[in-house]
Amino acid sequence: MQTDHEERGFTPRLKTAIYKEIAMKKIILFLTAIVASSGTVAEQDINSEHAQKTLEIYTHIISVETSKNLGNVPEVANYLASELIAAGFPEEDVEVLPVGETAALIARYRSDGSSGKAPILLLGHMDVVEALEQDWERPPFELTKDDSYFYARGSVDNKFGVAQITSTFIRLMKEGFVPNRDLIIVFSGDEESTMISTRVLAYERKDIAEAEFALNSDAGGGHLSADGKAVVYLIQAAEKTYVTWEITVRNPGGHSSRPRPDNAIYDLAKAITKIQGYQFPVRWSDMTLKFFEETGQQLGGELGEAMMQFAQNPEHQAAADRLAIESSYVGTTRTTCVVTMLQAGHAENALPQSATATVNCRVFPGVPVAEVKKTLEQVIGNDKCQHPECK
Ligand SMILES: [Zn+2]
Repeated sequence: MQTDHEERGFTPRLKTAIYKEIAMKKIILFLTAIVASSGTVAEQDINSEHAQKTLEIYTHIISVETSKNLGNVPEVANYLASELIAAGFPEEDVEVLPVGETAALIARYRSDGSSGKAPILLLGHMDVVEALEQDWERPPFELTKDDSYFYARGSVDNKFGVAQITSTFIRLMKEGFVPNRDLIIVFSGDEESTMISTRVLAYERKDIAEAEFALNSDAGGGHLSADGKAVVYLIQAAEKTYVTWEITVRNPGGHSSRPRPDNAIYDLAKAITKIQGYQFPVRWSDMTLKFFEETGQQLGGELGEAMMQFAQNPEHQAAADRLAIESSYVGTTRTTCVVTMLQAGHAENALPQSATATVNCRVFPGVPVAEVKKTLEQVIGNDKCQHPECK
């Protein structure tokens, strides 16, 4: 899944980060919130060989900066492969697949075949979004912690999942576990950018495509209370479509000493303001209604009340409006589009000849991307568009 700069400018708490990623970016629809009945994290669990191995892997892979174009993902893939092989996985079942500057990891946990069922895939991605060190309170590529949380780029998305799956494979192998159907680790290497490795895995690997289903560690997730009790585990059941457009305004320009009434930056600013002021219509599904019903009960308060009202009647305007001002929940109720980048002008004393805004949208499942594009065009309402697509 594509990632926001979820940790930029402040140091996130792990739980907050999980929550934000779940609600804000991509993992929008949940089947239900499943409340675990009991269980605290015992001290011996934390000190177990498995937990320590997980922490070792987690710490190591976070220390390798796997942002795009740095060519460091193969290092992580090779490290994970060597850990699996050292734990007893046959070399022929562990494959590092180079894809351009990045790589994928495929590791098969062979079964006894007794179930006769197709394999299960365990998914994750080894790359991370870029992180500017000067924007961080803590070093982004070093795992640090306080009493409650771990901090680092990728601490949640998705090196937590990658470390967990890998160390679980290692633990099961060491315990002599033999599955009754094959389990296959499939980690991609450029999920946050081009997704070429994902496409190679999905379309060019028959051995992976034959799986019955996949469990994705880059979605959902559990929450513990302050005293370590299991509170909730969220399951992703659908995903919004990620789409980015650029809006470019062109103008003949000129010298800044001779301003003209039309100006590429001013015109773009007007378009941006229109996008800011537009709200896509409320959408819902059985999953979102069930999600708000359960979450509203858990959360309580006036926000919880709004969730339950929405669950009972998603056309309840006040409830939908209340949820719309919550950045964590607005995406669960509708398509969203937001301007994320600007580029304009070429000299301080010249009138701009072009100005471009980047608009990133998260499209509600089931809504065609073309429909959102058309809506944006109508919202901007530019009748002077020269682009072939405007005709
Ligand atoms: Zn991710």
